[in-house]
Amino acid sequence: MAIFGFLLSALLYYSELTKARALIGRTSHGVALFIDGYFTEIINTIEVLEENKEIRDAMALGNDARERILDGYRSITKANKNIAYIYSGYENGLMLINDWTPPDGFIPSTRPWYRAAIADKNGTSIGLPYQEVKTKEWLVSTSRALKQSGGGYGGVVAIDCSIDQIIKFIAHHDEYKTEISFVVDRNGIVIIHPDQSILGTSLPELTKISTQKSEGVLPYRSGNVDYFAHYSRIASTGWTILTVVEKKEILRPIIVEVLSLVGLTGVIALLLSFVQSILLSRRLSRPLVELGKKIKATIAGDEQNGAEYTYPDNEIGLMAREIGQLAAKELTAKANELQVSEEIYKSILMASPDDITIADLSGNVIMVSEAANRIFGYEISEGPGMSVMDFIVPEDHERARANMAKMIYENHHGPNEYRAVRKDGSCFDIEVNNSLVRDRQGNPVQMVLIARDITNRKKNEQQIQVLFHQLEIERDLAQRNSLTDSLTGLSNRRLFDTMLQTEFSRHKRTGTHLSLIMIDVDHFKNYNDYYGHLAGDDCLRQIARTLKVVVERGTDSVARFGGEEFVVILPDTNRRGAAVLAEQIAESVRALALPHAASDTAGYVTISLGVASAADHALTDGSQLVDLADQAMYQAKNSGRNRCVVLTSAE
Ligand code: GH3
Ligand code: MG
Ligand code: MG
Repeated sequence: MAIFGFLLSALLYYSELTKARALIGRTSHGVALFIDGYFTEIINTIEVLEENKEIRDAMALGNDARERILDGYRSITKANKNIAYIYSGYENGLMLINDWTPPDGFIPSTRPWYRAAIADKNGTSIGLPYQEVKTKEWLVSTSRALKQSGGGYGGVVAIDCSIDQIIKFIAHHDEYKTEISFVVDRNGIVIIHPDQSILGTSLPELTKISTQKSEGVLPYRSGNVDYFAHYSRIASTGWTILTVVEKKEILRPIIVEVLSLVGLTGVIALLLSFVQSILLSRRLSRPLVELGKKIKATIAGDEQNGAEYTYPDNEIGLMAREIGQLAAKELTAKANELQVSEEIYKSILMASPDDITIADLSGNVIMVSEAANRIFGYEISEGPGMSVMDFIVPEDHERARANMAKMIYENHHGPNEYRAVRKDGSCFDIEVNNSLVRDRQGNPVQMVLIARDITNRKKNEQQIQVLFHQLEIERDLAQRNSLTDSLTGLSNRRLFDTMLQTEFSRHKRTGTHLSLIMIDVDHFKNYNDYYGHLAGDDCLRQIARTLKVVVERGTDSVARFGGEEFVVILPDTNRRGAAVLAEQIAESVRALALPHAASDTAGYVTISLGVASAADHALTDGSQLVDLADQAMYQAKNSGRNRCVVLTSAE
């Protein structure tokens, strides 16, 4: 429609323009004809006069003849209203003219009309228009040379005719307000124009016109105004008529008309599209809308809805009905499939011993499974509207939120353990595994949280912890039951007992010597109190090292008897030898010079020693020798400490 409107407007534009050009052309042509006719009459008249013998020879004739000539001039002037003057001038200065007396000294042969005629002896010369001083009339002189009977040209006959009628004729035309015509001579000079101020100006545009063509259009611009212009040549005078109209006067109504046509086309197009849309909606859209409704109803499971609409009997109607039926069939099948899979999924949810909670990404519960009742004490119907945080203690909320973020952004599925809280407020432990439900684009939309009650597992773990602890205790015990003392690295009490048994048996069997030295650190309780238990341990280790260095040679051995007590077994050693060694031991410990500020005996660590020898007594068991050495050591304590007491057989 728009293209049609555009083409029609273009057509209208061109036809209107052509019409306007034709109108101007016709006017210009008419004016040319008018002026041509006007001057043809004058030229005919002047030719008749030129052929008159009396006029030619007036110079040689008498007054009678001259009077006749003037009479003739008068009668022609009277007969033709356009003729203002008829006159003839001669070489000798004679001037025949009615109604006007030439001034003194008037010489006809010097006048332009005379000279023009003589210059063009065979033709009629037409001069430039001029304004008559008295009447203000615009006149044009036409003149012709007069051939004398005797040969040669001796005068000129002329007619001055009024061109006021022509001016009136060209000043205004009916078709357009700005339309005027004007006359240009052979040299392109404006010679007749309704506006006198233009007279005498030249029109360079005219030089562009082909001299062959008698009429046509030409570009014309005057001042700042563009014109449509048409020219026509006047055969009789050689002049050119220009008829011009301001371009805007022609174009404006055409443009208005074209615009109205475009507007009209637009309105018609709108109306048509409106009508078309009504038709379309009736025949095409309605069936499609109804089809949409039917499919929606089918999806919603309400198949009766929309059934009352009868599809129109056209292609769209038929197609919509077919699609509707097909869609209904497919959707029903799909809905059935969906229902089955939903049932399966529900039964899995409900059968699970763990609670399965589905929530949105903010933790708002969408549904809980049947196990929620057994585990948390909530009914299935109570789930929606709760937050997943309601199932765990507030202290765990922050960690739970962090784990949810980890699931969404790092695909971390747990398991995570929390303290859970039941509906009745009681607490227990759960383990939660989680996963995400994603849409088709892979964006997470929901989360599935599987919560398991791990109370029993926790209990088991605690029992395992207890067992583990017991194991540790037993391990310590076992260590204690081993043969070396862990603090000092010396033989422990168990090993000492065994060694003593062995050596005592040998002593009994072979009768060899066997001595014991019992050693106890002086004021060691005070040492611990003063320097601390760790320093006490360190002190014991240093004493043990010294004992080892001094004692251990061959079969001699030293053991930690208990606490800060040590014992030395000396096989094959009699009382005197044992006493010497005991003194050496006491001296070595003193030589360590371990400071003991809390000692009542000395400013450094000292020991008390008791020596006993098996040969001096009738013993039946190794432990009796230990008791004897212990007695001797107590005697050393009692007698001031930092000393050695040797038990003799007499005692
Ligand atoms: P004295 O023997 O001179 O009569 O005085 P005492 O202070 O040494 O008295 P007693 O023999 O009763 O005290 C022994 C102290 O030795 C008691 C205990 O704290 C300390 N002791 C025993 N075994 C260890 C041990 O393995 N490390 C430490 N640091 N101290 C121990
Ligand atoms: Mg002691
Ligand atoms: Mg002691």
